[in-house]
Amino acid sequence: MSSNRQKSLELYERAVSVIPAGVYGHTSPAATLPIAFPYYAESAEGCTFTDVDGNRYIDFMCAYGPILLGYNHPEIEAAAREEKARGGLYNHPAKVMVELAELLTERIDFADWAVFGKNGSDMTTWALQVARQHTGRKKVLTVKGAYHGVDAWTNPSPGGVIEEDRLHIHHFSWNDLSSFEQQVNRYPGEIAAVMLTPFHHPAFAANVLPGEGFFEGIQKICNANDILIILDDIRCGFRLHEAGSHKRFPIEPDMSCYCKALGNGYPISATVGKDHLQAAAGKVFLTGSYWSDAVSMATAKRCVELVAELNIPEKLNTLGKRLITGLEEAAANAGLKVTGHEPYAMPYLTFEDDPDLRKMQRFSEICANEGVIFHPHHNWFISAAHTTEAIDDAIEIASKAFQAVASEFNS
Ligand code: PMP
Repeated sequence: MSSNRQKSLELYERAVSVIPAGVYGHTSPAATLPIAFPYYAESAEGCTFTDVDGNRYIDFMCAYGPILLGYNHPEIEAAAREEKARGGLYNHPAKVMVELAELLTERIDFADWAVFGKNGSDMTTWALQVARQHTGRKKVLTVKGAYHGVDAWTNPSPGGVIEEDRLHIHHFSWNDLSSFEQQVNRYPGEIAAVMLTPFHHPAFAANVLPGEGFFEGIQKICNANDILIILDDIRCGFRLHEAGSHKRFPIEPDMSCYCKALGNGYPISATVGKDHLQAAAGKVFLTGSYWSDAVSMATAKRCVELVAELNIPEKLNTLGKRLITGLEEAAANAGLKVTGHEPYAMPYLTFEDDPDLRKMQRFSEICANEGVIFHPHHNWFISAAHTTEAIDDAIEIASKAFQAVASEFNS
């Protein structure tokens, strides 16, 4: 296959006159690969999607994370249909909201309560407010380069943001405990919370796991200074561990935020927290037009059940390891040195001597043209619908891409 992008480009041309930037945010062609990646999707099934030009791809982005069990998963779709047949959105929450909160608080060890929203940003912003409400403190620490959503206090783009929006947000460096300690010492008694991701997954760079002693050190300092720990498990949640990613990379959060994989493609996010925050949580107004939508809650309930029943994190780890090992071997056969980055359920790859990611971009471009989506600038996602055959097919296509990269960059 060598992909044709005619209809994608036609739609994009129409879009730029009615939609600012045509395609915006992380799916913008500027953030991916202009022309090489399709701009519009038509349908999806299992571990593949088809674009508007009819090109089919083995997909290692999973809609940037929400697709955990596979696109159009029969049990998730059945849960959605069943709930929708009764209605879906009412003046009041539905029974399933209580059932989902019960399930999450049973599943996640430290969680005594749960609330729901639609997007990850809804939850990181709300959790930050709960931390301020509880502690009476203003300041929040986050890791330099970490993404926590689009709200002004954390949006990585400066567009429309004023200085005051970030006045009380301070940064430290991943895996650098002394930079964390320095901030804590700089603002004694003023820091409400630290927000962390389970591992560092910046865009345009490799994954970095928590180093030895990093989370333990943070935990100790937070305990000693009454600083709350908020785990932003929005991207990783239910991929790394069925009971939350703090079980894979140990830390004890006071609150955790979930979103992407929670509803396997249905719009829902959640924050869970410890009992001692319940009063503060009740005081931070939380609502949205669609936030009590029962359909997404029903899909989340079924998805969380299936994650444990089918041992999904273990399955993703095995499949991801097969992919990364296969890619490393294929690259070596082409005379290239690449490094595969864990966790295998959300892997990424870097080329040696590729500071501006040109090799990575060329590799991803060739793969996309041949029917495999490997993002050049963002961690990838494995789903439970990736079969070993699909992974081996992807490695075969990647082998040809490595050969091409080797010959182009050596000449
Ligand atoms: N935190 C993390 C770690 C994320 O990856 C994202 C989404 N990429 C968010 C927060 C924000 O979630 P959303 O885009 O659903 O608002």
